[in-house]
Amino acid sequence: ESNLNPVYTFDNFVEGDCNRLARSAGYAVANKPGGTAFNPLLIYGGVGLGKTHLANAIGIGIKEQFPNKTVLYVSSEKFVHQFIDSIKNNTSNDFVHFYQMMDVLIIDDVQFFSNKEKTQDVFFHIFNHLHQNGKQIILTSDKAPVDIQGMEQRLLSRLKWGLSADLQAPELETRIAILEKKMYSNGIELSKEVVEYLAYSINTNVREIEGALNSLIAQASLNKKAITLDLAKQMIDKFVKNITREVSIEYIQKVVCDYFDIEIEILKSKTRKREIVQARQIAMYFSKKMTKSSLANIGAHCGGKDHATVLHACRTVNNLSETDKQFKAYLSDLEKKLSMQ
Ligand code: ADP
Ligand code: MG
Repeated sequence: ESNLNPVYTFDNFVEGDCNRLARSAGYAVANKPGGTAFNPLLIYGGVGLGKTHLANAIGIGIKEQFPNKTVLYVSSEKFVHQFIDSIKNNTSNDFVHFYQMMDVLIIDDVQFFSNKEKTQDVFFHIFNHLHQNGKQIILTSDKAPVDIQGMEQRLLSRLKWGLSADLQAPELETRIAILEKKMYSNGIELSKEVVEYLAYSINTNVREIEGALNSLIAQASLNKKAITLDLAKQMIDKFVKNITREVSIEYIQKVVCDYFDIEIEILKSKTRKREIVQARQIAMYFSKKMTKSSLANIGAHCGGKDHATVLHACRTVNNLSETDKQFKAYLSDLEKKLSMQ
């Protein structure tokens, strides 16, 4: 049992500038598991950009060419839970042994190991064993290794041994190609204008592009209507509104803190240091702009401020963006990041 998702093949993975390096490294690994310099191969990138798909495609490719190799795909969450269970049941040796037997180990979303020291320890030993024996390790993460917080140094350094390749948000041509591929495999035809409108409107990630396409198809078949450009525009615009609404205050805080390189705990604290105050105000400003939260709720999330403070923060940010070009550039940078999620 490899746990691979048979749908996630290389054939179904559309190539573009956004994923070329990761894809070709993956392809090389699939043809020569354990025998390339890409060990481990770490694929990183934001949500819905194809990490899980690509990691599976590599596993499937290996299975096709080397049926005797043992390949295992596991999510980090499952790995952690299995490990915890094994401790409870006094079977952690079996746990380690099981993973050390694999020829190819694929672990998805390793950022989930952050701040889990015991898991990191056990993974470290499994990693070493596999690597020393020329076995292939494939990992995915939502961040580059350097940006993963709460990870032991010795493990981080191993993650960097092979190749880290990122997946970017797909550019327009790739978005269109992805849509065309999905339509073709679902036996659906949409006009060129509709496809282009969709590809233009949704530039965040592939999962959302698929979501929009699916809702378009579902609606159309429900109403037994052909999808005219007008109808498509209505539906796609609505879909876009829905995805923008999903940003949470926590997410905004995280993005703002990453951007200014400060700790989220400090942002949420009551400190009055100038840089922190400004970052906090920016987080409040975007929380007001991009979420449906009340001012009071936003304040509560940002160091226990009241609604007047939040309002003041929003005004300050607005004013500053009108007078300070650099500040304005920060804001639009951040807004771009936030709407990419
Ligand atoms: P991640 O693991 O990075 O969050 P997934 O691998 O789950 O993203 O991808 C989200 C969806 O988008 C999946 O249905 C996947 O098949 C699809 N997808 C992502 N990248 C591509 C691509 N380059 N070509 C075709 N489909 C893709
Ligand atoms: Mg994934």
